[in-house]
Amino acid sequence: MSSSMSCLIDLKQFEIWFVTGSQHLYGPAALEKVAANARQIAAALSAAPAIPVNIVFRPVITSPADATALCQQANADPKCAGLITWCHTFSPSKMWINGLLRLQKPLLHLHTQHNRDIPWGAIDMDFMNLNQAAHGDREHGFIMSRLRLRRKVVVGFWQDAAVQGRIGAWTRAAAAWNDWQGARICRFGDNMREVAVTEGDKVAAQMQFGYSVNGYGVGDLVKSIQQVTDREIAGLTKEYESAYKVAPSLRAGGAMRASLVEAARIEAGLRAFLTAADAKGFTDTFEDLHGLVQLPGIGAQRLMADGYGFGAEGDWKTAALVRAFKVMASGLRGGASFMEDYTYHLAPGSMKVLGAHMLEICPSIAKGRPSLEVHPLGIGGKADPVRLVFDTPTGPGLNASLMDVGNRFRLLINEVDVVGPDKPLPKLPVARTVWVCKPDVTTAAAAWIYAGGAHHTCFSQAVTTEMLEDFGEIAGVETLIIDDKTSLREFRKELRNNEVYYGLSSGFVS
Ligand code: MN
Repeated sequence: MSSSMSCLIDLKQFEIWFVTGSQHLYGPAALEKVAANARQIAAALSAAPAIPVNIVFRPVITSPADATALCQQANADPKCAGLITWCHTFSPSKMWINGLLRLQKPLLHLHTQHNRDIPWGAIDMDFMNLNQAAHGDREHGFIMSRLRLRRKVVVGFWQDAAVQGRIGAWTRAAAAWNDWQGARICRFGDNMREVAVTEGDKVAAQMQFGYSVNGYGVGDLVKSIQQVTDREIAGLTKEYESAYKVAPSLRAGGAMRASLVEAARIEAGLRAFLTAADAKGFTDTFEDLHGLVQLPGIGAQRLMADGYGFGAEGDWKTAALVRAFKVMASGLRGGASFMEDYTYHLAPGSMKVLGAHMLEICPSIAKGRPSLEVHPLGIGGKADPVRLVFDTPTGPGLNASLMDVGNRFRLLINEVDVVGPDKPLPKLPVARTVWVCKPDVTTAAAAWIYAGGAHHTCFSQAVTTEMLEDFGEIAGVETLIIDDKTSLREFRKELRNNEVYYGLSSGFVS
């Protein structure tokens, strides 16, 4: 196994509809040209390596009835993850009002032109009348602003790599959003007792984000684990042996072999339970493991690697966000994992953060072949759990967290540089990653703490700030970014201003 890679959730299952606005003023020949050009752009975007979803050409919109019907079809089609709109010519925007007001899918306004260059020597009024996005898209943008629609505006020539990259980031966010609608997160047990940030309003989350979170008795999971056959366990332990460096005590005949067998039983039982529940993520807690021999370690790790969201200690918001990360990161270099800011290196001039968890870090972020080990947990009073231990490749990454701050949810993002440990960590029995925050550890940690940022996060070297900004825009969730430009003074102002904005907007703008 070489470098880290995100699991493959098939993003081609999602369609983004490419919708072109025009009108009948220019005659049928011009409309045919508009349709042909739009078809060409849609096909090019669909084939672009930076755009992982299917971009589907839709007939040109020339009337209010067209616009309304299109938006209603988009809402009704579960495969449709969003619309890209563009006005090749002028398209009077009052005809879009009834449709756009009803649209419940993510929206990207592509401000482009079929012809890159002005044909200086040949330009005439026919060219001018056909290539009018410069003013047609302004009319189109006005109605979206007038309707207070959340959307992404991408400007530039449709063949440019930067333009396709910006569209691609948004399609990943739109796919993750589509995946959240109707998604199920299973909670085994409740929240870790007395912990605040992992709590939250599950009804409000379902209203805003579309996923549901429900509790299951750990006894039901235990029953599923007890039904795992020896044959399934043998298959899994064989898989472990081929994929990981297995500690001698866990090998066949080793003193702790029974722990490995038990870990495999737990993984298979957990997987069967989640499959039967049609769940995309889960949480557990070390305080509620009655009937489980170990806290799930390698099982939680490998389920994450297969695309499941996970949150420890009942943290359902992070479990859902890890799942969204998995969709956004699909097929990209670099993985995505549940993470926790664990401990600091506070030496002046070289401050860093060591991120880890008790067990549950996803091997999609591993550098090299993970080591399969068994060690005591120190809390929870159960048998020693089996876990994968590894480091993470160096390079840029980010942490993000979703909190319930009472009257709203808040998405908080901090860009980091993974630098690795100063020295090897031979005694640390958990997977870990060591990073330096942007703009620096002191500013980032202060900003994070002023924003009420959780200790649990999603970490990724594949998901980008742009994808998360797009995701936040689609979700309509407050989104705060701590990056190399962050000034603590300005960040605190943004926090104060947002209290006013979100307080008023929830009352006055529907
Ligand atoms: Mn934790």
